[in-house]
Amino acid sequence: MREIELYLYEKSNYLLTDWEDMRIFKILSIPEDIDLWENIIDLDGKLYAIYWQQGNKYQIRELEKFDVEERENWGEEEITCPVCGFEFSDSWEFEDCGEITCGACGSELEWNRMVEVSYSTVVTKINEPIKLGEEEEEEDCCDECAEIINGTIEI
Ligand SMILES: [Zn+2]
Repeated sequence: MREIELYLYEKSNYLLTDWEDMRIFKILSIPEDIDLWENIIDLDGKLYAIYWQQGNKYQIRELEKFDVEERENWGEEEITCPVCGFEFSDSWEFEDCGEITCGACGSELEWNRMVEVSYSTVVTKINEPIKLGEEEEEEDCCDECAEIINGTIEI
């Protein structure tokens, strides 16, 4: 048997690795050969999965969403287990779709990469504008008119 300390995952201590700052939830003795990873843990009827581990210290997350009828998730930035919320931080290295076992709770998962299409555009050449609708210049009827118009002759 080995002794383990369980800590509860809470939003406020998300990614907190300083165990001193967390309250111990339970201390348990478990058989040596039980690996808590890839397992759903039943503690007094409530279900949990491992979220983080350092030595004999385990942070566990309650499976609030444990519901086999509604176990899809969408729009996550990483492949995320709908059962326990475990995120595969290296999702980008995966194929476009596939099957995988959740590293935390052991559920079998199937995933698809959802690609959102967007476009970026730059100008490489602006077309020359063509002028339309400009008034034609009036042609002078004779030299005198032209001189009058140009102001060289005083009337
Ligand atoms: Zn899981």
